[in-house]
Amino acid sequence: MHQPVYLDNNATTPVIPEVWEAMRPFLGDRPGNPASSHAFGRHARKALEDARERLAGLLGADPDEVIFTSGATEANNLAIFGLRGPAPGTIVTSAIEHPSVLGPAGQLGATGYTLSTLPVTSAGNVDLDRADFPADMRLVSVMLANHETGAVQPIEALVERVEGHAPFHCDTAAAAGKIPVSFHRLGVTALTISGHKFHGPPGIGALLLKRGTKLRPLLWGGHQQQGRRPGSEPVALAVGLAAALDWCVRNFAEHAARVLALRKQFLDRLRADAAPIVLNGSETGGIPHTINVSFPGCAADVLLMKLDLAGVACSTGSACSSGSLLPSPVLRAMGAAPEVLGSAMRFSLSRLIEGDALEEALSRIVECTQALRRCDSAPANPRFGPGCSRTI
Ligand code: PMP
Repeated sequence: MHQPVYLDNNATTPVIPEVWEAMRPFLGDRPGNPASSHAFGRHARKALEDARERLAGLLGADPDEVIFTSGATEANNLAIFGLRGPAPGTIVTSAIEHPSVLGPAGQLGATGYTLSTLPVTSAGNVDLDRADFPADMRLVSVMLANHETGAVQPIEALVERVEGHAPFHCDTAAAAGKIPVSFHRLGVTALTISGHKFHGPPGIGALLLKRGTKLRPLLWGGHQQQGRRPGSEPVALAVGLAAALDWCVRNFAEHAARVLALRKQFLDRLRADAAPIVLNGSETGGIPHTINVSFPGCAADVLLMKLDLAGVACSTGSACSSGSLLPSPVLRAMGAAPEVLGSAMRFSLSRLIEGDALEEALSRIVECTQALRRCDSAPANPRFGPGCSRTI
């Protein structure tokens, strides 16, 4: 049996040993709730506040601007429900946001707010020429990098256009740890990160919130984190989150060079041996880890299954929406043709891919796409209808 190759790092990443080691002391026989006023509690509190300070430093923020959450979905919900100005008014998002932004925005749309969506170009970037900000906007939420294509959005230019007329939230779950992210430099009101996207533990993320900003909490019933996110703080997870981001930031240059080389190897081989392919998004300038490619002639859901059987893990879209067989709303917003929409696969790389693992995965991808294209051009099978892919 082949060794499986994991190319779905935008869905989640493996926790690196350095992070495990940082977390271990807080998961063993020394318990401690940071709210307790004994030595065990003080030890936990110190570790938590050290993690907060380390994280803030890595993200160009101040420690009191960090609110730990359970992940990006919670941070996005907290920002959207917690920062919006009063109804009636308009909530502005982009057409390519993650469901954890579009979902809460949709809820507000059902309760007296108007929703407005910024259009994107065919490369998947918010189109500044067509971006409209209504005078009654109550919140703007635009991501830094897209989770399906890796396209990096012009946040600073958008912040300038909003001119402080509404709070500006930025979901950086698909960017933090992969490219430098500075909260103060971006100039946004709030910013989301998620640990499991950059080799940290799952179950923790953070919302950075500009000092002095009023926030309605989602949860009630505790004084932790100034009541903005009550509940006992998960010390080990917070320590792991900071350690993971520290590892990414410390090694940015080396990781970027390695991932760019992997990306080039990936696209060169597919162009040579799996043509025709369509790269969804731009060739350069985006997050190099994310490669969204269409294989005209292959049905994406069938190819996904075939690749899984061959030992290649990838995705047809974001993990949160890949349970559905609907075409990607992100590619649709980019104006992708039906053949491109129906055959799009997302491969997401990581610095940890070593040796000949990528070459091995590429051989399997080439084989699977060739087999599917042969099937689809074969005469109809009288038992199963046209194209043998239907029998899989
Ligand atoms: N935003 C983006 C851009 C994402 O890619 C994801 C994860 N698919 C999320 C939010 C949700 O993250 P989490 O799993 O931490 O809730």
